[in-house]
Amino acid sequence: MTTRRPLIAGNWKMHGLKASLQEFDRMVAAYDGELRARTDLMICPPATLIAALAAAAGTSGVAVGGQDCHAQAQGAHTGDIAAEMILDAGGRAVILGHSERRTDHGETDAAVRAKTLAAWRAGLVAVVCVGEHRQQREEGVALDLVRVQLAGSIPDGATAENLVVAYEPVWAIGTGLTPSVADIAEMHGAIRAALVARFGEAVGNGIRILYGGSVKPGNAAEILAVADVDGALVGGASLKAGDFLAIAGAY
Ligand code: PGA
Repeated sequence: MTTRRPLIAGNWKMHGLKASLQEFDRMVAAYDGELRARTDLMICPPATLIAALAAAAGTSGVAVGGQDCHAQAQGAHTGDIAAEMILDAGGRAVILGHSERRTDHGETDAAVRAKTLAAWRAGLVAVVCVGEHRQQREEGVALDLVRVQLAGSIPDGATAENLVVAYEPVWAIGTGLTPSVADIAEMHGAIRAALVARFGEAVGNGIRILYGGSVKPGNAAEILAVADVDGALVGGASLKAGDFLAIAGAY
C-alpha cells in the first residue's frame, strides 16, 4: 500500500505585502515536532514575496512556491515569470491552471500542459488544478469534465515527486460552500483511477491529490479524512497563521 505524505499548501493569491512575513514567520516557528514529522507545508505567495519567504523559511522545511509561470525559460514577455525564476528565488513548486487563471487569463488545458512541462524543466513540482463550474456539477458532467482537464493539462512524464493534483470545484472557491464528503470522495476516487490508468499503479497511487475550495479550520478534519484526499490547497484561510496551522493540524 502506498503511503502519501499529506501536503497542506497555501495560495495567497494577490494578497501579501512585506508585513505578511509576520504571519509566515509564525507558521515556520510552529512547524516542528509532530506536525513536521507527518505533514508537508507550503505557502505560495505573490511572486514579489517568494524570495523573502524562502529566506524566512530557512531550513525549517516549510516550502515556498509560485502561483503561475510562463512556458518559456526567458524572453520578451513583459510581466511574466519563468519557472526558472521561481526556482532561483527559492521556490520549489508552482500552482498551475488555477481556475482564476483559467478564467481571468483564458488558460486552456494545453497552456497548463505547456506550463507544467516548464515547471519540470526547471525542477519545480507542478501543482495542477482542475475543477468544475457549478453548472457542470448541476448537469452531472463534473467527473467527465475533470477527466478531460486531467488528460489535457498533465503531460506524459508525471511522477509522484514532480506532480500534485488539486481538485478545486470553482463554485467552492472563496464562497464558503463545499461539496458533500460523498462528492469529494467520488471525485478524488475518479482522479486517482485516472492517474493509475495513465501512469500505472506505482506512480498513480503515489501522486498526491489535494482538495481546495473553502477549506477552513472548522471543516478541515472532515474533508481531510476522506479517502484519496492527501491534503488541501487553502486560499483565504492560509493568510492567517492560526487558521492555516489549525488546518494543517487537522490532518
Ligand atoms: P479558498 O481558495 O480557500 O479561499 O476558497 C482556494 C483556492 O482558490 O485555492
